[in-house]
Amino acid sequence: MGQNIVDAIVSVETFIISIPREVPYLGPLKQGEVINERGYLVRKGNRTIYPSTDMTLLVKVSGESGRVGWGECYGIVAPEATKAIIDDVVGPVILGRDPGDAVVIHEDLYDLMRVRGFFGGYYLDALAGVDIALWDLTGKNLGVPVSTLLGGRRHDRLPAYVSGLPRATIKERCDLAVEWIGKGYKGIKFAAAVSDEGIVNEMAALREAVGPDIDLMVDLHWKFEAAEAIRLVRRLEPYNLYFAEAPCQPENLEGQVRVARGIGVPLALGEELRTAYEYRPRFEARAMSIVQPEIGHSGISEFIQIGRMAQAFHMNVIPHASISIGIFMAASLQAASALQNVPYHEYQHSVFDRNLDFVTGDMGCREGCYTVPTGVGIGVEPHERIFEYVK
Ligand code: MG
Repeated sequence: MGQNIVDAIVSVETFIISIPREVPYLGPLKQGEVINERGYLVRKGNRTIYPSTDMTLLVKVSGESGRVGWGECYGIVAPEATKAIIDDVVGPVILGRDPGDAVVIHEDLYDLMRVRGFFGGYYLDALAGVDIALWDLTGKNLGVPVSTLLGGRRHDRLPAYVSGLPRATIKERCDLAVEWIGKGYKGIKFAAAVSDEGIVNEMAALREAVGPDIDLMVDLHWKFEAAEAIRLVRRLEPYNLYFAEAPCQPENLEGQVRVARGIGVPLALGEELRTAYEYRPRFEARAMSIVQPEIGHSGISEFIQIGRMAQAFHMNVIPHASISIGIFMAASLQAASALQNVPYHEYQHSVFDRNLDFVTGDMGCREGCYTVPTGVGIGVEPHERIFEYVK
């Protein structure tokens, strides 16, 4: 702990937020997909559970100074679990600490549960939200954006690729892609693994629709055994993919390496990984050429470490974007703006644009690029109206 405490943490609070939406994440319900009594649905294409609302967990850290830092955790299912970890374990432990010790606190919190199997999952999601709030409060205490704390802002704007095409048919998805290109976007990704029409058909139709100059990406949602993935991605090579994402199960490191070596397309992965420790064997094995850290899982401290490791391994960083009301998105833009090797940042238009109404500040995404917020800390604050959606 630092000798000269600039501020001292006096409270840590959490808020589960659930904002209704008309079309669920990843598009309209398909045949056989239903929303259960808890508000969740299982996508048949990738067998993964999602909320039907925009669900998230906000973290508010207050300092003795009266200033407040905001964080947000990946909280899209069972946010009560992450909330309980912060309320019962993490929050009380950091009272009295200086938010300026964000990295030191993060390391201490990581050690706190070391022998209990908590080096992943909900525990680290909780740490991520707290970590973002500490960096935010420190920036406010020092009167600078988080990017300055991280060594400086290299990018004021970051190219955004349009992720997901939440429409019911191939034709509608192609039309939507063309619509976004018309707004100035140069990159489009489709989660073809959740489509019913066939991945090759989807990508062929998309390439035909968008023309030769757009960066086209495919998310394979961990669905394939390595040899299957290699055969599939080779069939997609004529459509000149910018990257293929997550072809094999996350726990199949050997398979990821075989695919990375066996295809003529850059392989991207990492949205599910939370720490540099989880990334390290993948860097060493050259299991990818693009890493996709999700700051709602990693927090700022791990995100920046992963990003700088990627730089040392000559890999690019294309951060993941998920269901956020805008707090962890602002954190992700702050951290990404401090890195050299970021050709794109994911853009979940159907989530990000709508939820801009729930934060203050000048963050935005227009004409193909994000604007990195310029205010102190992470540069955005939750708007009062978000608290109407506390669950
Ligand atoms: Mg993905």
